[in-house]
Amino acid sequence: MSHALLSPSGASRWMTCTPSARLEEQFPNTTSVYAEEGTAAHALAEIFVNYHTGKIGVDPFDAALEAFKGNEYANDEMYTYILGYASYITELFNEVRAATQDALLESEVKLDLSKYVPGGFGTSDVIIIADGMMNVIDLKYGKGVSVSAENNKQMMIYALGALEQYGWMYDIKNVRMTVYQPRLDNISAWEISAGKLLSWAETALKPKAEMAFDGAGEYQAGEHCRFCRAKAVCRARAEANLRLAQYEFKPGTLLSDAEIGDILKIAENLKNWVDNVTAYALEQAINGVKYEGWKLVEGRSVRVIDEKEAAPVLEGLYGKDQIYNVKLKGIGDLEKLMGKKEFNAAVGPLISRPLGKPTLVPETDKRPEWKAAAAADFEDADLSNLSA
Ligand code: SF4
Repeated sequence: MSHALLSPSGASRWMTCTPSARLEEQFPNTTSVYAEEGTAAHALAEIFVNYHTGKIGVDPFDAALEAFKGNEYANDEMYTYILGYASYITELFNEVRAATQDALLESEVKLDLSKYVPGGFGTSDVIIIADGMMNVIDLKYGKGVSVSAENNKQMMIYALGALEQYGWMYDIKNVRMTVYQPRLDNISAWEISAGKLLSWAETALKPKAEMAFDGAGEYQAGEHCRFCRAKAVCRARAEANLRLAQYEFKPGTLLSDAEIGDILKIAENLKNWVDNVTAYALEQAINGVKYEGWKLVEGRSVRVIDEKEAAPVLEGLYGKDQIYNVKLKGIGDLEKLMGKKEFNAAVGPLISRPLGKPTLVPETDKRPEWKAAAAADFEDADLSNLSA
């Protein structure tokens, strides 16, 4: 599938750092297993949504499911999550249909976004229109970070494309955007009037999109750099990070608590950047680039045994009991095997959740603050998960 230069998913980046879109063109747009898994989940979602909302009958549903079975990402977990998503959509649709008989539901809607974003196009997962309200729903199958629908530029651009597509047929007064993340248990919704959305399109989106398309404007580093294809070699990002590192320490032999707090904040950005540069340089070096003062060597590796050949020899010498470890499968695997209900009925009371190790995170993190009373339960705290 070809990609738009100004993709809705990258809008928060190219609206902030407008030249990034053209800069990115120099770098390959690679896919990942996560993206492919997401595509599979969307394909399954379309099948379930269309069937459960009555858009297709049993035969096409069975045929589509049968065809989907061959997908390399199809698994029980995906069926469960996507069925939950389809139920959410169906309930919402039934709710609006109860009030408005001619409510509209469309899934996997191709949207032309070019009125506001040059060359822009995209696909909205589900659009439901009834009674002056348009619902725009986006399924995100990843389990990385929780995404909020509030002022979410990607969703706002989809909503604008949908307004353009359906606005002439329906009197749409308000738009509700929903991000549905089944694996993170997150459903985030946000509402805006169609008027305000159109005004944002004219005053903010359109001018920025035009600049981005022309490669104009100033480079602006920030959180959004994480998703930029130029992130490892972008000079503006490097300079911004090195400015961050030029921290003005106060006089004194030891760092103050305030200084340590500041360093922790800076460190995460620097760490991400250094990781990006290191990964890029490694790839380049493997491809023959020589960096002065650096060389490629073989990394550490662990010994492996040819189990198929070695097992009969070892069994003959020591017997099965001595050469194998038998371990209970993990909870997730057992749930998959038995189904959550049956698993809980059989051993639910035997499952406990030990307290997690304390982790230092920024104040903005949504988790409740750790209580010092639990400190005695830990011998050492885990600081490896420090995240911005
Ligand atoms: S890495 Fe950041 S600053 Fe550089 S082009 Fe990309 S978004 Fe802009």
